[in-house]
Amino acid sequence: MTMTHDAPRALDSDLVVDGAQLIGGDWVPAASGETIDVINPATRDVLARIPRSGSDDVEHAVQAAEEALPAWRDLDATSRGRLLFRWADLIEQRADEIDEIERREVGRPSWGPLGVPGQIRFIAGQADKVQGVSLPTYSPEHLGFTLREPYGVVGGIIPWNAPGPMFAVEVGAAIAAGNTMVMKPAEDAPLTPLALAKLALEAGIPAGVINVVTGYGHEAGAAIPAHPRIRRMGFTGSPQTGSLIMEACAKNLTPLHLELGGKSPQVVFGDADLDAAVPAMAMGITLNTGQICAAGSRVVVLRSIHDELVDRLAAQMETITYGPWHQQVNMGPLINEKQHRRVLDYIGVGRDAGADLVTGGAVPTGAGLEDGFFVQPTLFDKVDPDMRIAREEIFGPVLSVIPVDDEEEAVRVANGTDYGLVASVWTRDVGTAVRMSRRLEAGQVGINSPLGAGVIGGPFGGYKNSGFGRTMGADSVLDWTQVKTVSMRDAVAVGR
Ligand code: ADP
Repeated sequence: MTMTHDAPRALDSDLVVDGAQLIGGDWVPAASGETIDVINPATRDVLARIPRSGSDDVEHAVQAAEEALPAWRDLDATSRGRLLFRWADLIEQRADEIDEIERREVGRPSWGPLGVPGQIRFIAGQADKVQGVSLPTYSPEHLGFTLREPYGVVGGIIPWNAPGPMFAVEVGAAIAAGNTMVMKPAEDAPLTPLALAKLALEAGIPAGVINVVTGYGHEAGAAIPAHPRIRRMGFTGSPQTGSLIMEACAKNLTPLHLELGGKSPQVVFGDADLDAAVPAMAMGITLNTGQICAAGSRVVVLRSIHDELVDRLAAQMETITYGPWHQQVNMGPLINEKQHRRVLDYIGVGRDAGADLVTGGAVPTGAGLEDGFFVQPTLFDKVDPDMRIAREEIFGPVLSVIPVDDEEEAVRVANGTDYGLVASVWTRDVGTAVRMSRRLEAGQVGINSPLGAGVIGGPFGGYKNSGFGRTMGADSVLDWTQVKTVSMRDAVAVGR
């Protein structure tokens, strides 16, 4: 379903600095002098240019972060937290502008109020709750305790699908712990991270604490984990790139966390409340055009309810509206031509493998859709768990329905991929809910709640090939610290 629209305004914000990145508090071009165009994926309009950086720029940023480290690390934790709170306030004051920048570069419609200030406040509140423990000793002459200390200069690489929240969560937790950071946003959506970094400076977070280096993954990105003075890494992206990051970290013995993809199952039992489940499942695969690592891309359904569910899901998916970022629609385009080709290829793979295409499957046409990377919300039924569309992450609005006979088979199919990020279960039966919560191999399980949503401060991360380490929870700042055991002996007693 498409909608008509008026032409949008040009992007005009002092939060977008054309052709420059933030290193040591200065807005600088790449050492190469080259730039990359950032486009709106709905219209292909150029929004701004970003520096095409490489290892020289990363070296420059690491030096800036090293210079900023001693003062930031030694600032008391309450003051660090206070600066993060101020950062959140400035973001909130300019929430509409930040949201518009993100919507333009990602191509998504409005989702309502910006979540980033709340995410940063949650982290800011943890800054002065980083505590060690007192340790028992062998004699009263000794004292023993642990200190939690920052690693030093740390690195981060984030993807394009939710650049604002990804940046806030990774940078916020790392700097709250007293680290300074070199962060590379994705080349497709770097403008929101740069805008957030600009507001961090305005909030009083000192120059060099947050450095944002822009460019391609294989150039600027690869130089960060390869840098020997990066002491810890955080990466969110594809499993293929995650594996490369881990290899680079292995060479330098750098610890890291990885938040990778998913093929999240939504298991629907015969007693499920379909009035609640159907809209949630359709949203779970079309929100951000399915470009969410937590997207519920497999429906594992008991045969007793299969036909009704498929009919209702198809009808629901046909109500999804799509169009450019400035319209009141449910769904925007895919991020770029490569992803567009990839999603359309997967639709072909599903057809060729013999899955039933129930709805969608094509590139939509119509006013306002000519230049964007649009694809219809697509539903496949009678998908075999061995088909590629049931095992591989598509990162698009493509949902596969897999019918099963009983709970045992549902568990086997739900757990039957290499991924383990999110799983949801739709049932009214408490016993089923308890068993499924325990048996599903996923970092987040939602019962009658999609995407593992609805809780505050839930740790987020994967089982199996979906990665390791957890972000967003109450421990996320601790994860950016290392533990030191201190033992002290009474000097007078030593002399005795
Ligand atoms: P996607 O396929 O969703 O774009 P990627 O894993 O390729 O996911 O990208 C996530 C982030 O990783 C982006 O910031 C990208 O620039 C970066 N990246 C891609 N390739 C590499 C690489 N070889 N080394 C470091 N970073 C990379």
